[in-house]
Amino acid sequence: MRILISNDDGYLAPGLIALADGLSSIAEIVVVAPDSNRSGSSNSLTLDRPLSVARAANGFYFVNGTPTDCVHVALTGMLDFKPDLVVSGINQGQNMGDDTLYSGTVAAATEGFLFGIPAIAFSQVEHGWAHLDAAAKVACDIVQRRFDALQKPYLLNVNIPNKPYEDLGTIVATRLGKRHESEAVIKTRDPHGREIFWIGPPGAAKDAGEGTDFHAIATGCISVTPLQIDLTHAAQLDALKKGLA
Ligand code: MN
Repeated sequence: MRILISNDDGYLAPGLIALADGLSSIAEIVVVAPDSNRSGSSNSLTLDRPLSVARAANGFYFVNGTPTDCVHVALTGMLDFKPDLVVSGINQGQNMGDDTLYSGTVAAATEGFLFGIPAIAFSQVEHGWAHLDAAAKVACDIVQRRFDALQKPYLLNVNIPNKPYEDLGTIVATRLGKRHESEAVIKTRDPHGREIFWIGPPGAAKDAGEGTDFHAIATGCISVTPLQIDLTHAAQLDALKKGLA
């Protein structure tokens, strides 16, 4: 099995290194990741300048672009083979509910999925990399599951509590929950006295009921959500057709 690995925290991130170390024991891997932290970059492509690829001493390739750029470049000309799986992460911080729309971690996996390759995004729930070794072991477990019952390509979003491996709960299939609106922007002044704005933190969980990713994580389990990309609102489409008739 050949696996393309990327992330959004950048090619120096401990989560990427742990994931690559873990997966290299079960598969042939190639790492193509952003040259800096591009968290929150979603599915953006860089179209206003060219991209360059460099190779780090540890063999990782890094790109002056977004996570989506990395996977896109890898799959459309950089690599001389089509990977069997695209894996992203391990992200520093959870990607649950609405987070998945903003996440560069999920986006890197999504880019693989859009090219017809099964893809999995991995995130640790808390910042700080506590018990990263356990999360990497979980990632290997999940990659080795193969998911023969799933339609291919599949796109899976995995969130892992920061706990020792033996303290982790089971792996649970979930749907995305939903957050409240984001917290207010943080207004401050730069050293020149000009008003500046920092984007605030995401909102708290609103729909965190049984069956959601939030609920699985709250009970100490590992959450796996199958994602799709079609944004069409089918019920609204029918209403719209009536409204336009
Ligand atoms: Mn990130």
